[in-house]
Formats: sequence, C-alpha cells, structure tokens
Amino acid sequence: MQRILIVEDEDGLRRALSINLRARGYEVETAATATAALRIAAAGRLDLVIVDLGLPDLDGGEVIAGIRGWSSVPIIVLSARDSQADKVKALDAGADDYVTKPFGMDELLARIRATQRRFEQSDGHESAVVETPAFRLDLAAKRAERDGAVVRLTPTEWQLVEVLVRHRGNLVSSAQLLSEVWGPGYEKETNYLRVYFAQLRRKLEPHPSHPLYFITEPGIGYRFEG
Ligand code: CA
Repeated sequence: MQRILIVEDEDGLRRALSINLRARGYEVETAATATAALRIAAAGRLDLVIVDLGLPDLDGGEVIAGIRGWSSVPIIVLSARDSQADKVKALDAGADDYVTKPFGMDELLARIRATQRRFEQSDGHESAVVETPAFRLDLAAKRAERDGAVVRLTPTEWQLVEVLVRHRGNLVSSAQLLSEVWGPGYEKETNYLRVYFAQLRRKLEPHPSHPLYFITEPGIGYRFEG
C-alpha cells in the first residue's frame, strides 16, 4: 500500500484530503506542523509527501529542504499563495510539483499519479521512445517523426526535450531547465526558453499557438504532457 504524508495546518482540508486518499486505497499519515512532518518523515517509509507552504511553525519550504536532506521521496506542494516566487522556491528546494488552492480532488489525484509515474520511471525503467498522437521521439536514436516524416531537432532542442521527458507530466522550473541545458549561471535567461520552446512547438505541435504537449506555466516553468 502506498503511504502518503499530508502536511496541512487547516483541519478541514487535512481531514478532507485524508478521507479522499484513504478512500482511494492510500495509507495516510497527517501532520499539522512542519516539526511533526519532519518527525514522521524521518521515522518511516513514505511513498509521497503533500506539503502546504503556509505552516504555523516553519515554512513548508523548510520541510521540503529538510526531507531532501536524506530522501528523494516525491513531494507535491499545496500553495494558497499567488506568489510565483514561492512556487519557484519550493520547486528549487526539491518539490516535484505543486497544486494551487483551491483545487479539485481530481486535479490533486492526477498530480499524485503523474509524480509517482515519473518517480517509478526514473528507477531505470524509463523508455527512450515517447509516442503521442502528434509525434514520436526516439531519445536514444535522436530521431523525431511527425506524420511519418522525420523532423530535425537541434542538439539544444533534444536536451530540453530530454529534461522535460525525464519529468514527464511534472513541472520543471525555468531555472532548472536553464542550468541543466545551458549550465550554471544561465538560470535567469528565460528568454532562451521562450525562443527554443517556440521552435519546438513549431516543429512538433499540431497547433503551435495552442500547445498540447510543451506547456508553459507562466513565470514558473514548463511541463511535458504526453
Ligand atoms: Ca496553511
């Protein structure tokens, strides 16, 4: 059984989340403070952690940083804040994705599944071939096809695709993409990403101005849905 830790100080929301997740077969642990969360996380095996950013004792970001000190367990952030800076900070502290309050249970469950899928795939079972109704990417052979015709991607475009596919379904912050593809020191060059994603969409998306696969989360990062 998958064991999920919910870190949320609002009693009603914490209860609703644990009822919903238990009903779907998850084993649920709950914490109302960062201190309790870190104690539970340190004590036992967890398959996923859901963390509210606004906690009464420490910031949720410190829970993420604390857990990341010893564990790579998937972490999803709950954020009531409009501030993109908080979300980016949480992602850079090691969160895998976030959901903005108020959210629907279906949305959270979809994020949980995507995060777990990504996590399982990163255990070495990742396939080198990505197939969508619009295109096919063979990452090992560096071969892209669209409607049966070969599409040429540049080495930088392949690198971007690789990072996103590795986090398939999850959000990757702009800073992370820039530092993985261009290297440390390029974290603020978000205009590079705009240019390269426009190119990728022109080459691969059926409707480049309404992308289905290479999704921008404005001010935060990018996500590959495929
Ligand atoms: Ca809160």
